[in-house]
Amino acid sequence: MTDLRALIRDIPDYPKPGILFYDITPVLGHADGFSDLIDRMADPFREAGITKVAGIEARGFTVAAPVATELEAGFIPIRKPGKLPYQVHHREYSLEYGTDALEMHTDAVVPGDRVLVVDDVIATGGTAAAALALLSDAGAEVIAVSVFIELGFLDGAAALGGVPFHALLTFD
Ligand code: AMP
Repeated sequence: MTDLRALIRDIPDYPKPGILFYDITPVLGHADGFSDLIDRMADPFREAGITKVAGIEARGFTVAAPVATELEAGFIPIRKPGKLPYQVHHREYSLEYGTDALEMHTDAVVPGDRVLVVDDVIATGGTAAAALALLSDAGAEVIAVSVFIELGFLDGAAALGGVPFHALLTFD
């Protein structure tokens, strides 16, 4: 099994001073590492009856879409405003400074769907919480939120309103 931690590149002071950015591109670029990552993210959910995996633009897509095919589920793109062509649900959320927003097509989920939300990194949890709000607007049943990397000291899981949470790696 690949040592995924060894493939994650730590970039100090990116995108601004004081942030330690975890760059997953070396994992994505490593054939065995990428394959192991997707297998290991899918593993806890193989028997969960997941019908759709929702991924968050843009780094989240790189992990969520392959997890969807691994689970034989569909993929739902959650995107920044103005990027999706059809009718959307729209949710604003708070950043450290100011706000941002995410959108999802109104027909992305159908009754009976069991949705897994997948992202690369959870920090404060604001992004994942906005994705959950969009799925709630659409009447979706969310089974869990699953991430590659959790920044444990920020306790982002606490922002998920009790939705089951899974992280492959937790950094403190
Ligand atoms: P948050 O809404 O605070 O949970 O931030 C989550 C999003 O920001 C994720 O989709 C990540 O892509 C990105 N992110 C936040 N902090 C980091 C970090 N230290 N390293 C890499 N990505 C990060």
